[in-house]
Amino acid sequence: MIENKLNNIKDAISKSVTIVAVSKTKPIDDILQLYKFGHLDFGENKVQELLFKEEKLPKDIKWHMIGHLQRNKVKSIVPFINLIHSVDSLRLIKKIDEEAKLINNSVNILLQVKISREVSKYGFSFAELNSFLNSSYPGQYQNINIQGLMGMATFTNDKDIIENEFKKLNETYNRFKSKYNFNTLSIGMSGDYRIAIENGSNMLRLGSVIFGSRV
Ligand SMILES: *Cc1c(COP(=O)(O)O)cnc(C)c1O
Repeated sequence: MIENKLNNIKDAISKSVTIVAVSKTKPIDDILQLYKFGHLDFGENKVQELLFKEEKLPKDIKWHMIGHLQRNKVKSIVPFINLIHSVDSLRLIKKIDEEAKLINNSVNILLQVKISREVSKYGFSFAELNSFLNSSYPGQYQNINIQGLMGMATFTNDKDIIENEFKKLNETYNRFKSKYNFNTLSIGMSGDYRIAIENGSNMLRLGSVIFGSRV
């Protein structure tokens, strides 16, 4: 039972850590099953699938966009999205701010940082992130709330590599925490969430460990 999988993890970790149940590729019924037990935070990585599910499911679900977001799709999710984890460029920040302004809304975002060794992962480099957060640019965007940072560690069995990547992101998070009132460090997936919690995570994005493996 997927609710047991989720509850076992919840019981084993601090209440201050939010679990985003990553429901990508999984059916509506799986989401409803957790919803019935009071779970509200769900994550999707594709806009089309997110819109489809949002329309069919209860409106008090808190949707998290965790996958790469194209600027031309921003408009469709801005009215309802709870948190966009995957903000990976200045152009995307600007676009989200513009679309939010048009509907008098304010959108919660995380800045995705490239912490892994893999070439293909999206995100700001540490250099880009530091220069953005040290500048006065963030203050220009009145319709976004930068709530914190998100990262994905290298896909490896080597715990030291994962730990070093999370540590470095956590250090940067703490450095800017008070300046921006950060409250969210989104690190940790099914394979590495214990390491993430040891290194400051307060938001896990868990898919397969709850729903089973994806085909
Ligand atoms: C799929 C996905 C997850 C969840 O992955 P699992 O290993 O199944 O827990 C977390 N974050 C992002 C960005 C994802 O795309």
